[in-house]
Amino acid sequence: MSASHAVRADDVADRAVRAGEILRTTFGHAAFRGAQGDIVAHVADGGDALVLMPTGGGKSLCYQVPALLRAGTAIVVSPLIALMQDQVGALAQLGVRAAFLNSTLDAQQARDTERALLAGELDLLYVAPERLTSPRCLDLLAQSRIALFAIDEAHCVSQWGHDFRPEYLQLSLLHERFPGVPRIALTATADPQTRDEIIHRLALEEARVFVSSFDRPNIRYTIVDKQDARAQLLRFVREDHAGEAGIVYCLSRRKVEETAAWLAAQGIVAIPYHAGMDAQSRAANQSRFQREDGIVVVATIAFGMGIDKPDVRFVAHLDLPKSIEGYYQETGRAGRDGEAADAWMAYGLADVVQQRRLIDQSEASEDFKRVSTAKLDALLGLCETAGCRRVRLLDYFGEASSPCGNCDTCLDPPQTWDATDAARKALSAIYRTGQRFGAVHLIDVLRGREVERVQRWDHHKLSVFGIGADLDEANWRSVFRQLVAMGLARVDHEAHGALRLTESSRAVLKGEQPVAMRRTVERKRAAATRRTGAEPALAPADADLLALLKAWRLEHARAQGVPAYVILHDATLAEIARRQPGDLDALAGIGGIGAKKLERYGEALVALVREHG
Ligand code: ADP
Ligand code: ZN
Repeated sequence: MSASHAVRADDVADRAVRAGEILRTTFGHAAFRGAQGDIVAHVADGGDALVLMPTGGGKSLCYQVPALLRAGTAIVVSPLIALMQDQVGALAQLGVRAAFLNSTLDAQQARDTERALLAGELDLLYVAPERLTSPRCLDLLAQSRIALFAIDEAHCVSQWGHDFRPEYLQLSLLHERFPGVPRIALTATADPQTRDEIIHRLALEEARVFVSSFDRPNIRYTIVDKQDARAQLLRFVREDHAGEAGIVYCLSRRKVEETAAWLAAQGIVAIPYHAGMDAQSRAANQSRFQREDGIVVVATIAFGMGIDKPDVRFVAHLDLPKSIEGYYQETGRAGRDGEAADAWMAYGLADVVQQRRLIDQSEASEDFKRVSTAKLDALLGLCETAGCRRVRLLDYFGEASSPCGNCDTCLDPPQTWDATDAARKALSAIYRTGQRFGAVHLIDVLRGREVERVQRWDHHKLSVFGIGADLDEANWRSVFRQLVAMGLARVDHEAHGALRLTESSRAVLKGEQPVAMRRTVERKRAAATRRTGAEPALAPADADLLALLKAWRLEHARAQGVPAYVILHDATLAEIARRQPGDLDALAGIGGIGAKKLERYGEALVALVREHG
């Protein structure tokens, strides 16, 4: 080995040691997670990288640590102006010199920031993409020392994606203008087409690609049969997430408004968010959710990108999303801090009908409809599966796994039953009544209920009348839902949601094809406490201390105008409540307490613990 190589190897080892130190003292974390360490080393060494990591995986550290290791300023391109301020605020709490340049600054503030950049006084500078590619900004960068470029939300470069940002197409310019500066592009979008498009459009052909597992082990997936969705939701929020932050997704603006108002009337702190609200109330509600503790936002999917609140404890769906991609992206907003979180959905026949209608009645091309139908079918498969939900989800993203033990079907395996006979009866009822009626009427006929509508159509005289008295209404609803999900019956939207037979119905009607279905039961609650991992629930006295700590945090967050989690994370407060550190040394051993936070809040926290004890 030549002398220069030996020096280089020493350099690398030295850099790894320094990376670990920065992680511990500045960020307060004990160890890198997953591929973080490798990514940091690669970028700190001057390499280009494309990082694919799920939401909550810990992407920020992948460029923040190299930013501190390398000489000069790291330039971070981010499309989310609203969040730059929070990120810069969070870094300032850690003693990192960070600033942003975007349209919210006045001319003087922008000039000050530019001057700080030129003077080498910044570790990180967040810049909006349209500003970065302006001649003025490029000139400024040419005169500064640049440590690296980080391109966050890199999938925004994809023209086929839903977050397309034309300004991102200009970013390949960075490679041309600053060929020696390492670039790291990051995204949580997993599919191969988007990945290729990022590589191609950002000229990252030479970059090392880091793909993390897309599993989010701390999220518990639960999909329940929809009976009385609101009441089910309320029970879920009250019993499992009282006083915690969450997002409830609904399909329509009206349902968002109504659900938020109803939850609020039940004593839950719930606020609405949808694209039909004026910009000001929308921004106000988003900011409240981000900054205050324990708010529930009821929203359409317009509420999405730009939410990086780490302590969202649940995401609930009152309506079926369009695809597994959508479902995964939305549920991914829960539990970014790695603590236990719930993804909960209520799903019923009406959802299947509604989503199928949206596709059938859309103006889109036949190709698009075909793709949409396939995506919806994959999601229905997830809803109806008797196997592990996580295995299904990860399989959809091309990742093999085994049953997780942290989803409803693992915790409380659903029973399947031989529904061949019931399916035949249901399909016969559809046929005998002329394929003109919806599930409610068909169930009345099957169960032998002589209600007015049955009599009006003389359906009490049919051979199928009363042949299904052995199953209750909920079970019949579940049978019809599963028939539609399986393609054994279809919904005619031209005829007000009448159920009709399909090509596949025949074999079942003739008794040639057996049908297995999931049994509908009111699911037992998995457990009173929903914590995963080894952590025991807090004792009552500790819970009191936690409440004190949260009140203290809220005061500081308000005074400094930052979200509460920027001061300290929930997990950190919970650990303080549990371990009750008596002095600064003991406090320093707690996750999330770096040097700067120890200096800033240490005395106050220890005093709180002492007072309480
Ligand atoms: P992403 O951008 O990938 O969604 P973030 O960078 O926001 O994820 O990180 C998610 C959460 O994980 C943050 O709360 C962060 O503090 C935490 N985190 C990241 N890396 C680590 C680590 N090595 N150890 C402990 N916590 C970490
Ligand atoms: Zn599972």
